[in-house]
Amino acid sequence: MPDKAVFGFRAIEDQPLPIQILTTLLAKGRIPHALLFIGPDGVGKRTAATAFAMAYHCRGRRIPAGDGGRVPAADACGVCPSCRRVAAGSHPDLLRVAPVGDTIRVHQVRELVEALMMKPFEGAGRVVVLAQAQAMNPEAGNALLKALEEPPDRTVLILTARQSSDLLPTIVSRCQRVRFSPLSRPTLERLLREREGLDADAAAVLARMADGSYSHALRLHATDWRKRCGWLIAELTALPQRSSALRLSFAEKLHGLKDQLPEALEMAMSWYRDLAVYPYRPDGVRHRDMIPLIRQAARREDSAANAARVRLIQGTLHDLQRNANPRLALDVLVMRLAAARPAPWTL
Ligand SMILES: [Zn+2]
Repeated sequence: MPDKAVFGFRAIEDQPLPIQILTTLLAKGRIPHALLFIGPDGVGKRTAATAFAMAYHCRGRRIPAGDGGRVPAADACGVCPSCRRVAAGSHPDLLRVAPVGDTIRVHQVRELVEALMMKPFEGAGRVVVLAQAQAMNPEAGNALLKALEEPPDRTVLILTARQSSDLLPTIVSRCQRVRFSPLSRPTLERLLREREGLDADAAAVLARMADGSYSHALRLHATDWRKRCGWLIAELTALPQRSSALRLSFAEKLHGLKDQLPEALEMAMSWYRDLAVYPYRPDGVRHRDMIPLIRQAARREDSAANAARVRLIQGTLHDLQRNANPRLALDVLVMRLAAARPAPWTL
């Protein structure tokens, strides 16, 4: 049986507006053919899609009233056979499509469109969740358009994506948009403590680094960021005094991180950000567990040089996303970090 505390809309944190919109649609029975959940990764879009499907299929759905909006206007009971099947992922009228590797391929969408030509198995209708819709290649997007142009019988299609500009405008215009926000820092901290068993200090640092995304926090956690953070900060601190050969060998080590390079660069960015912030706002630092180190390091360089380093890393991350040669980009970055001077406009 699903845990009472974590099924349906109650399982979603920090998204009062999306929940209000979705539960109102359910309560009024005015459900559009297609919904588009927009928002950063790791803020609950997919959980909300499952909650919606559960409430949609639930046979014991209750519609409490007059509670001042604290309890969702319509939510699943969590115990009927339909709810159990949604929770177990075995409901025949809940279909899911997700990227295989990095892409949703055209054959996946064609299979879905074919399945939608048949009637739902049960009377109530059908929910389709197409997660990370931005992973559809153009061919797959066009195949999906067909389903949107001639909406199948008793079917709600839920797409999730980071931003609507990542999708074909013709898809976006056929969906009702529901916008999700980043999670608050206290919420992230609590989730990391409750679900991952982190101690308060570790949860606080991760929550500060994760930019409101639970999945980002989990990725940082999985890469053993504390150990790596220590290594990275030691390297960055020594960088200005090192020879060119040693600087380039550091660039090579960064290159060797491969998939974890973006996380490492974000960590480096948050370190320099702390150094830049500390002299003005000591309580604004993210790495609170490293305040003695930050105090020391912030004394050596002025704040503007560290702010310039933050921008250098930002620029490199941007270039890497646009397929710059990583080895070259890292060599250049490391040399510039070592020699960083405040940009003229920050003096
Ligand atoms: Zn139910």
